[in-house]
Amino acid sequence: MTKINILSPLLADMIAAGEVVERPASVIKELAENSLDAGAKKVTIEFKSGGATYIRITDDGCGMSPEDAGIAFMRHATSKLHDEKGLEAIGTMGFRGEALAAISAVSRIELTTREKGAAEGVKVTVQAGDIVDMSPCGCPEGTTITVRDLFYNTPARLKFLKSDRSEAAACTAAALRCALGRPEVSVKCIKDGEDVFFTPGDGRADSAVYSLLGRDIASSMLPCTGSSDGIEVKGFVSSPALSRGNRSMQYFYCNGRFIKSQLLQSAVEQAYRNTLLTGRYPACTLFITLKTSAVDVNVHPAKTEVRFSDEKKVFDTVYQTVKAALEAETQPLELKISESTQRMVSTPRADFFRSMPAKEYRTEYTRPASAPAAVPTPRREPSYAAPRPTARPSMNEPLTRTGFSPDRTEFSIKNVEKTVESVEKIAALNHRVIGECLNTYILVEIGEELLLIDKHAAHERMIFDRLKAQGRQIMSQTLLTPVIIKPTSEDAELLERNEALLSDLGFEIEPYGADAYAIRALPDDMEVTDAKAAVEEICDKLRRGDIVSADSARDELLHTVACKAAIKAGHRHDIRELERIADAVVAGEVRYCPHGRPISVRLTKNELDKFFSRIV
Ligand code: ADP
Ligand code: MG
Repeated sequence: MTKINILSPLLADMIAAGEVVERPASVIKELAENSLDAGAKKVTIEFKSGGATYIRITDDGCGMSPEDAGIAFMRHATSKLHDEKGLEAIGTMGFRGEALAAISAVSRIELTTREKGAAEGVKVTVQAGDIVDMSPCGCPEGTTITVRDLFYNTPARLKFLKSDRSEAAACTAAALRCALGRPEVSVKCIKDGEDVFFTPGDGRADSAVYSLLGRDIASSMLPCTGSSDGIEVKGFVSSPALSRGNRSMQYFYCNGRFIKSQLLQSAVEQAYRNTLLTGRYPACTLFITLKTSAVDVNVHPAKTEVRFSDEKKVFDTVYQTVKAALEAETQPLELKISESTQRMVSTPRADFFRSMPAKEYRTEYTRPASAPAAVPTPRREPSYAAPRPTARPSMNEPLTRTGFSPDRTEFSIKNVEKTVESVEKIAALNHRVIGECLNTYILVEIGEELLLIDKHAAHERMIFDRLKAQGRQIMSQTLLTPVIIKPTSEDAELLERNEALLSDLGFEIEPYGADAYAIRALPDDMEVTDAKAAVEEICDKLRRGDIVSADSARDELLHTVACKAAIKAGHRHDIRELERIADAVVAGEVRYCPHGRPISVRLTKNELDKFFSRIV
């Protein structure tokens, strides 16, 4: 008797189902992708509780003939791939012919479909992979698939499902990823009979972002476009002020397919270096388009992983595109969403004081970073304790329009011009420094707005930028009386080992007696009283060893120098000094502190009037 047994097709499909159909959300993904492949303009995704008992997807796509509907549930049945050559140029979401076979092996399915132009449709009932009924039926053009009792015949798998709540969340996320990737398709998602989301399908990526991610996120997104070597990158990235605690708002699409990619993730995050706190992440929806032969999507059955043939080129293009978008940032563009979209999408009323968490306030500035510096920064200045008379920036200087060229954005020329106009209007306004409050915030009135500036954060950024501009060797001041420190032996070793690095940063530190060191010179901006703390913090950073590249090491240490050299919250400062900081902020020269904390918060008259119920 032979020991080897050929598995029945059903058993083989059930095993394969483990790879393709992990949970209800995977059913939604596969079926919605089939609808997109069928050229649908409208897709409705419905599910009940966690999706395991009921999922229904309806589309107005090309539909299937009765013959095709009869074989669609067989393994390797696909209309999308014909030979090996086709594998090099996959233009559809599906191609493996596995999904329907796998899903039908572990559920009860009802399919009704009518091919475009056909007189009537067909209804097919499938149970555990077998067609149990097939009959003609009247139905609209397109396809409806209902999947009931997922995993009813594979109890082991059923046990692995999480609570209805988390399965439902995964279902919504899967539907959202499909919808976000295809702005030209109107997608509706209904859970337990209630609308979860709806996209207008008007082909505008900004409408899709608005409908799916909400108004607060949409209004902080900066458009970005770039390409090189046949790799095209398009989409939106969040303004650094709107960072998030995790990566759940990062969406990457490659040739229209949602993908997970550490490569793209780190390319984006690298572009935010020095603008985000550690542990904070940007949000993005990025569409990468490249030759189908330059990317392999056949890495995993779920097809959410891809392999790029030239990873470095892809990384560089994404990095450069995102970086350019961040540098061109003037003020987060309000996405100009059509009124009908706004009406369709129910977003909570933006109640300024209640709905926005403090750290997600938008920072405000009025001039593109590339605009001429309004306040000439002297190369050498003793310290901010003795400020020079302030050179007021001329607010009438014409604004450069970088960042607004039509091909950089998805927005219509009219909207772009409107935005430029409003930027110019703000720039033409004079601002007035009212004073300081709580020994921490500078109050500035500018047009119809009140600007609150975190003086330490703003000053820290000014110094950080200046230090970076000084290049390798930072200017230092020699102290008349050295500061004597007594580091631990571990820190002493670090100081000795990193002598060259410290000297680049403007520190001169020498052994002084048996176990002490003398700080003989300091970076120019730093007060003597901060020297000891600065050296300790630098040792701390060197000791932790979390600084990887030479460049990031330098940036990290510059953060320390800038932080220690900047004026401190809690102390009162001279009005002229505050004015100089306010000028730089209003001129848009500084936007985030080197850790990515916002530097300023804006309260408009309108918001204040609403708060006091002067207007409703
Ligand atoms: P694949 O998508 O990899 O081709 P599937 O098992 O998901 O494999 O689908 C099998 C075939 O059934 C598809 O190739 C397509 O021809 C047909 N099909 C599935 N869903 C639809 C749909 N919603 N509209 C039209 N045809 C569909
Ligand atoms: Mg498919």
